[in-house]
Amino acid sequence: NMEGRKVNAWAARDASAILSPYSFHLRKTCPEDVVLRVLFCGIDHTDLHQMRSEVHTTSYPLVPGHEVVGEVVELGSNVSKFAVGDTVGVGCIVGSCGECSSCKSSIENYCSNRIFTYNDIYKDGRPTQGGFSSAMVVHQKFVVRIPEKLAPEQAAPLLCAGVTAYSPLKQFIGSEKALKAGILGLGGVGHLGVLIAKAMGHHVTVISSSDKKRKEALEHLGADAFLVSSSPAEMEGASNSLDYILDTVPAGHPLQAYVSLLKVEGKIFIVGAAPKPLEFDATDMILGKKTITGSFIGSMDETEEILEFWEKKGLKTMIEVVKMDYVNRAFERMERNDVRYRFVLDVASSNLD
Ligand code: NAP
Ligand code: ZN
Repeated sequence: NMEGRKVNAWAARDASAILSPYSFHLRKTCPEDVVLRVLFCGIDHTDLHQMRSEVHTTSYPLVPGHEVVGEVVELGSNVSKFAVGDTVGVGCIVGSCGECSSCKSSIENYCSNRIFTYNDIYKDGRPTQGGFSSAMVVHQKFVVRIPEKLAPEQAAPLLCAGVTAYSPLKQFIGSEKALKAGILGLGGVGHLGVLIAKAMGHHVTVISSSDKKRKEALEHLGADAFLVSSSPAEMEGASNSLDYILDTVPAGHPLQAYVSLLKVEGKIFIVGAAPKPLEFDATDMILGKKTITGSFIGSMDETEEILEFWEKKGLKTMIEVVKMDYVNRAFERMERNDVRYRFVLDVASSNLD
């Protein structure tokens, strides 16, 4: 019998993406496994894409959640780097092959055999399920320690959104140039992008779809400039001005309008998972020697780095903490762009058991 402890979770049953209570059994604890009681779990826009089967085909019931902070409650016999009672985190992946060139270069997030935290099949043939659950069991390689000075609910969004913004930007650490950054889309990933770019000393322009977040971007997040993408005059005025743009938009958008904002040799990092193809103008790319690149979360090493970076710089994620029975409303509000800037579920206080 491969079944371990019974857990209570919330799951989506079909592409209508409504979550409701669901129970299942974790796998039996293997020698390399860490069992954690979930404390907090962030809500990422990717959860919604997956619940709706927009990214690749989703298997239901689906327990989302990949910004998980928990308390270690049990350890497999080979785990020595954690102790029962430690606060730990789990992000988007819970497995990789360990043998390919990505794995060997410690960028296991690019392993083509990576195993996603949920909506995937684990090595034992069972579906993986995420952090909207009272507990999880995860191989120790994919578990990170949460630094002591970070509050667990603060740490949760760093495990996906934070490392997603950090990974492409970290190449600029130590740059002598006064870099001009653009953060496109001020949501969960975007607001962390602003804080990270500012902490790296860049001049930061938020590029937003409306004027609504102007004041808070400038005053609360410390951005230097604010650009409304629907204003042709503002966009025109900012052309050829940015060294890089972090594009976090989760929907189709006119990519060329943003590429035009880049200086010569400027780069746009696409992290938003637009479900349809994006378009750009080859001539502008050629004449400006511009780069369009993608980036997927970060490695386990980078996940540890962003947690340390956050602690060292004393940064604060901006979150709204809610209970599990609010989760459907939280998704609705996230989609309506009505959250500043990330929902975090207080799983431990939601009486799932
Ligand atoms: P989010 O909190 O919903 O934020 C997205 C932001 O984009 C919104 O706040 C809004 O900002 C802007 N936006 C939304 N709809 C838009 C539209 N139709 N046109 C233009 N702008 C729009 O989402 P998130 O959790 O930050 O995730 C953002 C995207 O990144 C999602 O697609 C998610 O799947 C993806 N993601 C990728 C990775 C990765 O590893 N690559 C990791 C995490 C998330 P404004 O109000 O400022 O316009
Ligand atoms: Zn691999």
